[in-house]
Amino acid sequence: MQISLDRLTRRETDKIDLNFCQKIDTINYCDIDYKLASPVSINGKVSTTKTGLYLDVDVEFTVLDNCSRCLEEVEVPIVYSIQGFLVKEDFDENSFENDDAFIYDGQVLNLVNIIEQTLDFKMPARVLCNESCKGLCTKCGANLNKQDCSCNKIANDEEIIDPRFAKLKDIFKND
Ligand SMILES: [Zn+2]
Ligand SMILES: [Zn+2]
Repeated sequence: MQISLDRLTRRETDKIDLNFCQKIDTINYCDIDYKLASPVSINGKVSTTKTGLYLDVDVEFTVLDNCSRCLEEVEVPIVYSIQGFLVKEDFDENSFENDDAFIYDGQVLNLVNIIEQTLDFKMPARVLCNESCKGLCTKCGANLNKQDCSCNKIANDEEIIDPRFAKLKDIFKND
């Protein structure tokens, strides 16, 4: 998703439309590479303004994450928009106090890079396959959505034994 902005910087046009879908394998967020379950859809434009080049696009794609309870793979749709000025590395931060500014090399816009920079708060902090997901058994690791395990039953049986009788049991054991 490298887009040449030559025509804008040479002032041959004052806007480049960005309307496309592109398949990419992964998106990196918080040092984790998330696999994508759909191509990335981009709709918007880069245009020339008095202050500089301005990016305004809607972004849509689906990442694969794991349910935080049962660890099954879950498709997470991400839809949001990115707006901000495109600036070179030596830009004056004070001129963009009220707007987002994304650094680019002056020629090519790397949209994946900008998506990765803007994913904060767009990715859910906690993914669930289902609000009522039962999760994994903490003892045997069984996925409790798919099967019942007997760990809980055993635990309950132990609790039923009166502690006084438990002591008796120990005495007999020593004999
Ligand atoms: Zn789950
Ligand atoms: Zn279990």
